[in-house]
Amino acid sequence: MLEIDLDAIAANWRLLRDRHGPDRATAGVLKADGYGLGAVAVAKRLHAEGCRHFFTAHLMEAVEIRPLLPDSMLCVLHGLGPGEEETFILHDIAPALGTLGEIEAWAAAARARGRRLPALLHIDTGMNRTGLSPVELERLTARAELLAPLDILFVMTHLVAADTPGAPMNAIQAEVFAAAAARFPGTRRSFANSSGIFLGPRFASDLARPGAALYGVNPTPGDANPMAPVARLRARIMQLRDVPAGEGVGYDHQWISPRPSRIATLPVGYADGYHRVLGDRAEVGLGGQLCPVVGRVSMDLITIDVTDCPAAAIGDWCEVIGPAVPVERLATLAGTNAYEVLTSLGRRFHRRYLGA
Ligand SMILES: *Cc1c(COP(=O)(O)O)cnc(C)c1O
Repeated sequence: MLEIDLDAIAANWRLLRDRHGPDRATAGVLKADGYGLGAVAVAKRLHAEGCRHFFTAHLMEAVEIRPLLPDSMLCVLHGLGPGEEETFILHDIAPALGTLGEIEAWAAAARARGRRLPALLHIDTGMNRTGLSPVELERLTARAELLAPLDILFVMTHLVAADTPGAPMNAIQAEVFAAAAARFPGTRRSFANSSGIFLGPRFASDLARPGAALYGVNPTPGDANPMAPVARLRARIMQLRDVPAGEGVGYDHQWISPRPSRIATLPVGYADGYHRVLGDRAEVGLGGQLCPVVGRVSMDLITIDVTDCPAAAIGDWCEVIGPAVPVERLATLAGTNAYEVLTSLGRRFHRRYLGA
């Protein structure tokens, strides 16, 4: 059972908003189905809290949540794809334009309809991934009339290493962005992601775009997590067995019982986003204790050693992710980040939204 605490998401959004500055806007990033936790439920709740700016990655993600977000800006970070103009216009969605080609196509759509169309202008300040390159920005400046039929709501950029406060790229990007944004006088700016909000006043802007921190991921790795925990994944013990010393458990008998052991089987596996590499590495919480995951992670099952938890019984709830086993810990053990753990969580769990 995946429990998602919408009250905690709302509290996290308010904390980020206050930290960014109460007279500045703070958006909600809902890409990848709200970082795996459910974009629809999160969109509704953030809107009720007063959030009025939202981002998804894909157009179809935005179309799904558009009806839940009246009087709000909804922006697609991937920008305008070929032939998508009609869908953007129909649903009043703003693309984050990141190439001259997109700008030309969106401006042509505006002229053809005789109306102004909303957009964000995405400027690449060092990521070398999306957004206008310095060369394209130069070309755009020479053809400023291209933007005439568009309402540029924000110029935006994205930080390369915001979660590493000492990274030299942060200051470089702040400088490059300030210079680039100055080419669009009077246009509002959008800069920080979750971690960027904690980097200091240089990274504040008219609109911050936090994602991960809303969902409880620590935006200040190395320091205590200021965010409230949001997701709790629990599973019941399906089976219990006594395994004599010297016998193997699970595929390939990767784990051999070093002593007479009590093994519990839980219905969670790598198909649910419990990464296979976590076998023989992670733990699961049970009755205030941590029980090691032993043997290989199967597609739909894990086995845990409950020898030192003599009260363990079939039907007992174990905590796979939660206060006892933070997402960050699983991420470290799996050699990834908390974002990937959350967005990998499978769709098979029964989901319960608290505070809905
Ligand atoms: C994902 C993303 C965000 C949110 O980043 P977090 O680190 O999750 O806060 C903001 N802006 C852009 C362009 C993104 O792709």
